[in-house]
Amino acid sequence: MSLTQEVKRRATELGFCAVGVTGAERFSEAETAAVNRTRQGLMDGLSWWSEARAHASADPRRATPDARSVIALAFPHPVVNPPSPSDGPRGRIAAYALGRDYHDVLLERMQPLVAMLRERGHVAKTYVDHGWMLDRAAAARAGLGWLGKNTNLLIPGVGSSVLLAEIITSAELETDAPVKKTCGSCDACMRVCPTGALVEPGVLDNRRCISFWTIEHRGVIPLDIRPLIGDWIFGCDLCQEICPVNARPATPDTQALEAFGPMIEARPRLEELLALDDDGFRARFRNSAVWRTRRSGLLRNVCIALGNIADRGSVPALAVALDDGEPLVRGHAAWALGRLGGAAARAQLEQALRRETDAWVRDECAQALQACGPLVVPSVV
Ligand code: SF4
Ligand code: SF4
Repeated sequence: MSLTQEVKRRATELGFCAVGVTGAERFSEAETAAVNRTRQGLMDGLSWWSEARAHASADPRRATPDARSVIALAFPHPVVNPPSPSDGPRGRIAAYALGRDYHDVLLERMQPLVAMLRERGHVAKTYVDHGWMLDRAAAARAGLGWLGKNTNLLIPGVGSSVLLAEIITSAELETDAPVKKTCGSCDACMRVCPTGALVEPGVLDNRRCISFWTIEHRGVIPLDIRPLIGDWIFGCDLCQEICPVNARPATPDTQALEAFGPMIEARPRLEELLALDDDGFRARFRNSAVWRTRRSGLLRNVCIALGNIADRGSVPALAVALDDGEPLVRGHAAWALGRLGGAAARAQLEQALRRETDAWVRDECAQALQACGPLVVPSVV
């Protein structure tokens, strides 16, 4: 058995649902596309992204000069889409974030492969999403699947509910050919996207994507985006849920999914989340990708979801958030109360405006009061 075959067999035993190999040459086509999108502003808002990073990420030999091969790996993540119980407003969390942080899970799973390569005297360097690597380009060139119009890697017989990782190695492995499939005439993902973020087939305008606003963005979410976010409080799966390639995924490997450990609720009660203090947030989300938003970011998202669901029973919970220590939470709570409207919401906004000193939050309160109906806005005493 060749080393390539050994690596692939071991990867499958470890729970990876797809594994392929490509050479360590630059991903030139993906590099050009990434640079163009960066110049067009489609990557704006991602503080960690730059044109320089696009160039560096396209070159497997940048950090590993002896690189000969790239092993591309896909690991299935839990897919849960339960119906929402009718016991009050609930939000939605993207499926990939429901288990233990996937960076940890994949890095652990790759270690036996890394050890196998190093035992044979080869260099082996791992990448999981946060490294400088064009992971979808690597996976596509290594024959794992094709890049869909929703920008995800679509693996025949598996779908897109996977997480990608790579091992750059000095081992000269046998390479795989890219798959020849395409999306054909399907454009379901482009039509379902509520924000119009898929501006062309396979081209995402980051500044319109719900995943960007609810996960990556740290500050105030623009007024025109908020109503489009719906009930998503961390990420968005709409363009994957609609995808026919995901309609009949292969039976997930239970053992692999167990690697993600206990899962957080896919549709948590929003008012419960709004009551989380720092300790509560830590206890609930420390080991999940949701931790990335920090408490203030998650509660901001919760306020927006409550505003979009617009159940007036949420006024008391939002009233508490109007007094939160974080202006980011107070301002979005005010917006949500404006969406709910009614006398109770108006009374809470009036009270908040009397005590509020933050200029942006005051502005949100004033706008929310206008949304509730005509009112004379009192000034700070
Ligand atoms: S994740 Fe949601 S907002 Fe982003 S492109 Fe897909 S459907 Fe649109
Ligand atoms: S929904 Fe259709 S167009 Fe979009 S990625 Fe899936 S197959 Fe491709």
